[in-house]
Amino acid sequence: MILDGRELSKKIKEDVKKEINSLDFTPCLATLLVGDDPASKIYVKNKDKACEQVGIKSITKNLPTQTTKIQVIQAIEELNNNPSVHAILLQLPLPPQLNAEELVEFIYPSKDVEGFHPVNMGRLVTEKNSIAPCTPAGIIELLKHYEINLKGKDVTVVGHSIVVGKPLALLLLKEWSTVTLCHIETRDLTKHTKHADIVIVAVGKPGLIKEDMVKNNVVLVDVGTTKVDDKIVGDADFEAIKDKASAITPVPGGVGPMTVAMLMKNTVKCAKRNR
Ligand code: NAP
Repeated sequence: MILDGRELSKKIKEDVKKEINSLDFTPCLATLLVGDDPASKIYVKNKDKACEQVGIKSITKNLPTQTTKIQVIQAIEELNNNPSVHAILLQLPLPPQLNAEELVEFIYPSKDVEGFHPVNMGRLVTEKNSIAPCTPAGIIELLKHYEINLKGKDVTVVGHSIVVGKPLALLLLKEWSTVTLCHIETRDLTKHTKHADIVIVAVGKPGLIKEDMVKNNVVLVDVGTTKVDDKIVGDADFEAIKDKASAITPVPGGVGPMTVAMLMKNTVKCAKRNR
């Protein structure tokens, strides 16, 4: 079974559109883009298209590469204090002089659409009223949509970033999975992937997960996106694993579109909260 994020994301966006139509105001998502990273520009373009589809007002503040920490904080403060802006996205990666984790703390938690502020991360731990990061939330939606039972399942997550691995582990725990979280210091990666019912890989190293590292009927979710010879590829050997797996995400067309759809959903959540 192919876990088709593209199809599901359309459905989610339709639902978001309906919800927005029932509101008496227009949700507004503001993006801060510092510098001119090409991948970021593509993501911002896709996000703008999705906003237009669902009826979210999207504004982008473009700051030059040399922008200082103080200038970014001032830009965040302006958006925090603007009542017509409901959700703020600080586009990553940032130029080397800026520290993303430090800057994210200046966004009001109620406007933190990506859920990276420590308050929202903390609420993920306490399972109270959180805004969950878009990619992990999209993975859970995708698995649930395809009726993949998470309760009691052994799930191995490869990659422990704040954007994907760590919050994903918390969301899986909430679903009663038994979670193993692997990282660069994990001694024997195969030991942890081979026994897992579900393997989720978010590293950014093509070919990391090979066919002999997973068991028969595994569910494989590949978050990785790396540009190789002008093509986007994941972290797993899709061709070799697809016949062994009971379900697998394609790259592209799996997790990527879900991330944008969840951003739309989170924007509405922030908008309602800020109203
Ligand atoms: P990241 O911050 O670079 O994190 C990568 C993680 O992988 C780190 O935790 C790293 O551990 C770990 N790692 C590196 N080599 C490893 C190895 N050999 N074995 C086990 N773990 C290893 O990246 P990210 O932001 O999480 O993104 C990961 C990938 O997902 C990238 O390809 C990114 O483009 C993609 N992504 C896709 C979407 C989407 O919507 N499709 C969204 C977000 C990210 P250390 O930190 O200890 O080095």
